[in-house]
Amino acid sequence: MKFLLPTSCIGCKEFQLNSICDKCLNLLKYKRTHRCQQCAIPCLSKQDICDSCQSHPPAFNSTLCLDSYGGLLTESLHDYKYHGKIALAACFADTWQSMFKDTSPIQSPIEWMIPVPLSTHKLHQRGFNQAWELCKLFSKRYRMNADPFILGRNHIEGDQSHANREERLIRLINTFRVNPKKLDHINNKNILIIDDVMTTGATLNTMAQVLKDFGAQSVHNWVILRTPL
Ligand SMILES: [Zn+2]
Ligand SMILES: [Zn+2]
Repeated sequence: MKFLLPTSCIGCKEFQLNSICDKCLNLLKYKRTHRCQQCAIPCLSKQDICDSCQSHPPAFNSTLCLDSYGGLLTESLHDYKYHGKIALAACFADTWQSMFKDTSPIQSPIEWMIPVPLSTHKLHQRGFNQAWELCKLFSKRYRMNADPFILGRNHIEGDQSHANREERLIRLINTFRVNPKKLDHINNKNILIIDDVMTTGATLNTMAQVLKDFGAQSVHNWVILRTPL
Protein backbone atom coordinates (compact mmCIF):
# COMPACT_ATOMS: atom_id res chain seq x y z
CA MET A 1 0.00 0.00 0.00
CA LYS A 2 2.85 2.31 0.89
CA PHE A 3 4.31 1.91 -2.60
CA LEU A 4 0.97 2.38 -4.34
CA LEU A 5 0.01 5.43 -2.34
CA PRO A 6 3.09 7.46 -1.51
CA THR A 7 2.61 10.21 1.04
CA SER A 8 4.15 13.61 1.05
CA CYS A 9 6.77 14.31 3.69
CA ILE A 10 5.48 16.65 6.40
CA GLY A 11 8.72 18.60 6.16
CA CYS A 12 9.57 19.08 2.47
CA LYS A 13 6.27 17.81 0.90
CA GLU A 14 8.15 15.50 -1.50
CA PHE A 15 6.33 12.28 -2.30
CA GLN A 16 7.96 9.27 -0.69
CA LEU A 17 7.06 6.37 1.59
CA ASN A 18 7.03 7.69 5.13
CA SER A 19 5.40 10.45 7.15
CA ILE A 20 8.70 12.28 7.16
CA CYS A 21 11.61 11.67 4.79
CA ASP A 22 15.06 10.73 6.14
CA LYS A 23 16.49 14.05 5.05
CA CYS A 24 13.93 16.08 7.03
CA LEU A 25 14.11 13.78 10.05
CA ASN A 26 17.89 14.10 10.12
CA LEU A 27 17.57 17.85 9.75
CA LEU A 28 15.21 17.97 12.75
CA LYS A 29 17.61 15.84 14.77
CA TYR A 30 20.64 17.84 13.68
CA LYS A 31 19.02 21.19 14.42
CA ARG A 32 17.69 20.01 17.75
CA THR A 33 18.69 22.57 20.35
CA HIS A 34 19.18 22.26 24.05
CA ARG A 35 15.92 23.20 25.76
CA CYS A 36 14.71 24.01 29.25
CA GLN A 37 13.33 20.77 30.75
CA GLN A 38 10.44 22.63 32.29
CA CYS A 39 9.18 24.92 29.51
CA ALA A 40 11.09 23.66 26.41
CA ILE A 41 12.43 27.08 25.47
CA PRO A 42 15.92 26.96 23.90
CA CYS A 43 18.49 27.74 26.58
CA LEU A 44 22.19 27.60 27.33
CA SER A 45 23.52 24.06 27.13
CA LYS A 46 24.72 24.07 30.72
CA GLN A 47 21.26 24.91 32.06
CA ASP A 48 18.61 22.27 32.74
CA ILE A 49 16.06 24.90 33.73
CA CYS A 50 15.95 28.33 32.07
CA ASP A 51 16.27 31.61 34.01
CA SER A 52 12.60 32.40 33.60
CA CYS A 53 11.47 29.03 35.05
CA GLN A 54 13.96 29.43 37.88
CA SER A 55 12.67 32.85 38.88
CA HIS A 56 8.96 32.17 38.14
CA PRO A 57 8.45 28.39 38.15
CA PRO A 58 5.44 27.38 36.04
CA ALA A 59 2.87 24.97 37.50
CA PHE A 60 3.83 22.18 35.07
CA ASN A 61 6.86 19.98 35.74
CA SER A 62 8.22 19.36 32.26
CA THR A 63 7.68 20.04 28.57
CA LEU A 64 8.82 18.15 25.51
CA CYS A 65 8.46 19.42 21.94
CA LEU A 66 9.30 18.15 18.48
CA ASP A 67 10.60 21.41 17.05
CA SER A 68 10.23 25.18 17.11
CA TYR A 69 7.28 26.99 15.62
CA GLY A 70 8.54 28.65 12.44
CA GLY A 71 10.67 25.61 11.56
CA LEU A 72 10.32 22.74 9.11
CA LEU A 73 6.96 21.40 10.35
CA THR A 74 5.09 24.69 10.65
CA GLU A 75 3.28 24.55 7.31
CA SER A 76 2.06 21.01 7.91
CA LEU A 77 0.87 21.95 11.36
CA HIS A 78 -1.06 24.83 9.83
CA ASP A 79 -2.64 22.49 7.29
CA TYR A 80 -3.57 20.12 10.09
CA LYS A 81 -5.12 22.69 12.36
CA TYR A 82 -6.74 25.18 10.01
CA HIS A 83 -7.37 23.21 6.81
CA GLY A 84 -8.81 20.11 8.44
CA LYS A 85 -6.12 17.69 7.27
CA ILE A 86 -6.67 15.43 10.26
CA ALA A 87 -4.64 12.57 8.76
CA LEU A 88 -1.53 14.64 9.47
CA ALA A 89 -1.96 13.84 13.19
CA ALA A 90 -0.58 10.36 12.48
CA CYS A 91 2.39 11.88 10.65
CA PHE A 92 3.23 14.01 13.66
CA ALA A 93 2.90 10.99 15.94
CA ASP A 94 5.17 8.96 13.60
CA THR A 95 7.73 11.75 13.60
CA TRP A 96 7.53 12.00 17.38
CA GLN A 97 8.26 8.29 17.71
CA SER A 98 11.17 8.45 15.26
CA MET A 99 12.59 11.50 16.95
CA PHE A 100 12.52 10.05 20.46
CA LYS A 101 13.33 6.47 19.47
CA ASP A 102 16.56 6.24 21.45
CA THR A 103 15.48 8.25 24.45
CA SER A 104 12.15 7.47 26.04
CA PRO A 105 9.96 10.58 25.94
CA ILE A 106 8.19 9.50 29.12
CA GLN A 107 9.88 11.03 32.14
CA SER A 108 7.67 9.61 34.87
CA PRO A 109 4.77 7.20 35.26
CA ILE A 110 1.70 8.82 33.74
CA GLU A 111 -1.81 7.81 34.77
CA TRP A 112 -3.76 10.04 32.41
CA MET A 113 -3.09 11.73 29.12
CA ILE A 114 -5.41 14.65 28.37
CA PRO A 115 -5.76 17.11 25.47
CA VAL A 116 -5.97 20.88 25.85
CA PRO A 117 -9.77 21.16 25.63
CA LEU A 118 -11.66 23.32 23.14
CA SER A 119 -14.89 25.06 24.05
CA THR A 120 -17.99 23.52 22.45
CA HIS A 121 -18.29 26.69 20.39
CA LYS A 122 -14.75 26.32 19.00
CA LEU A 123 -15.20 22.60 18.49
CA HIS A 124 -18.26 23.23 16.34
CA GLN A 125 -16.36 25.83 14.37
CA ARG A 126 -13.31 23.68 13.73
CA GLY A 127 -15.01 20.30 13.64
CA PHE A 128 -12.28 18.55 15.61
CA ASN A 129 -9.97 19.13 18.54
CA GLN A 130 -6.44 19.06 17.14
CA ALA A 131 -5.00 18.20 20.56
CA TRP A 132 -7.39 15.27 21.11
CA GLU A 133 -6.62 13.73 17.69
CA LEU A 134 -2.93 13.71 18.68
CA CYS A 135 -3.72 12.53 22.19
CA LYS A 136 -5.67 9.49 20.93
CA LEU A 137 -2.73 8.39 18.79
CA PHE A 138 -0.15 8.94 21.52
CA SER A 139 -2.26 7.06 24.03
CA LYS A 140 -2.42 4.02 21.75
CA ARG A 141 1.22 4.09 20.79
CA TYR A 142 2.58 4.66 24.28
CA ARG A 143 -0.15 2.57 25.97
CA MET A 144 -1.42 5.25 28.29
CA ASN A 145 -4.97 6.03 29.36
CA ALA A 146 -6.44 9.10 27.71
CA ASP A 147 -9.55 11.02 28.67
CA PRO A 148 -10.85 14.20 27.02
CA PHE A 149 -13.49 14.84 29.69
CA ILE A 150 -11.35 15.49 32.77
CA LEU A 151 -11.07 19.21 32.04
CA GLY A 152 -13.62 21.24 30.12
CA ARG A 153 -13.32 24.67 28.60
CA ASN A 154 -15.84 27.48 28.75
CA HIS A 155 -16.44 29.72 25.81
CA ILE A 156 -15.78 33.28 26.85
CA GLU A 157 -17.31 35.89 24.55
CA GLY A 158 -15.58 39.00 23.42
CA ASP A 159 -12.42 40.22 21.86
CA GLN A 160 -9.41 39.94 24.09
CA SER A 161 -7.00 41.89 21.94
CA HIS A 162 -7.41 44.99 24.11
CA ALA A 163 -7.37 43.17 27.43
CA ASN A 164 -4.34 43.77 29.61
CA ARG A 165 -2.22 40.97 31.05
CA GLU A 166 -4.21 40.75 34.27
CA GLU A 167 -7.57 40.68 32.47
CA ARG A 168 -6.30 37.91 30.20
CA LEU A 169 -5.12 35.92 33.19
CA ILE A 170 -8.48 36.20 34.97
CA ARG A 171 -10.18 35.16 31.75
CA LEU A 172 -7.89 32.17 31.44
CA ILE A 173 -8.56 31.04 35.02
CA ASN A 174 -12.31 31.20 34.33
CA THR A 175 -11.79 29.24 31.15
CA PHE A 176 -11.19 25.76 32.55
CA ARG A 177 -13.53 23.67 34.64
CA VAL A 178 -12.90 20.35 36.28
CA ASN A 179 -15.39 17.56 35.68
CA PRO A 180 -16.76 16.77 39.18
CA LYS A 181 -17.21 13.11 38.17
CA LYS A 182 -13.52 12.77 37.34
CA LEU A 183 -11.85 14.15 40.46
CA ASP A 184 -10.29 10.76 41.22
CA HIS A 185 -8.58 10.93 37.81
CA ILE A 186 -6.66 13.97 39.07
CA ASN A 187 -6.03 13.53 42.78
CA ASN A 188 -2.54 12.07 43.38
CA LYS A 189 -2.15 11.35 39.67
CA ASN A 190 0.59 12.17 37.17
CA ILE A 191 -0.95 13.84 34.14
CA LEU A 192 0.38 14.44 30.65
CA ILE A 193 -1.19 17.26 28.61
CA ILE A 194 -1.05 17.11 24.81
CA ASP A 195 -1.21 20.18 22.58
CA ASP A 196 -0.23 21.13 19.05
CA VAL A 197 1.51 24.45 19.71
CA MET A 198 2.81 26.02 22.90
CA THR A 199 3.15 29.77 22.53
CA THR A 200 3.60 31.66 25.81
CA GLY A 201 2.71 28.63 27.89
CA ALA A 202 -0.02 30.58 29.72
CA THR A 203 -2.78 28.13 28.76
CA LEU A 204 -0.75 25.07 29.77
CA ASN A 205 0.32 26.79 32.97
CA THR A 206 -3.28 27.56 33.92
CA MET A 207 -4.32 23.98 33.17
CA ALA A 208 -1.47 22.65 35.30
CA GLN A 209 -2.42 25.03 38.10
CA VAL A 210 -6.05 23.86 38.02
CA LEU A 211 -4.96 20.20 38.00
CA LYS A 212 -2.57 20.76 40.91
CA ASP A 213 -5.26 22.64 42.85
CA PHE A 214 -7.28 19.43 42.56
CA GLY A 215 -4.41 17.32 43.83
CA ALA A 216 -2.40 16.30 40.75
CA GLN A 217 1.03 15.04 41.73
CA SER A 218 2.78 16.15 38.57
CA VAL A 219 1.80 17.67 35.23
CA HIS A 220 3.83 17.28 32.03
CA ASN A 221 3.36 18.65 28.51
CA TRP A 222 3.97 17.17 25.08
CA VAL A 223 3.59 19.73 22.32
CA ILE A 224 4.40 19.38 18.64
CA LEU A 225 5.83 22.88 18.20
CA ARG A 226 7.12 25.43 20.67
CA THR A 227 7.24 29.13 19.86
CA PRO A 228 10.67 30.52 20.72
CA LEU A 229 10.03 33.67 22.75
ZN1 LIG B 1 11.20 15.75 3.69
ZN1 LIG C 1 12.01 27.21 31.19
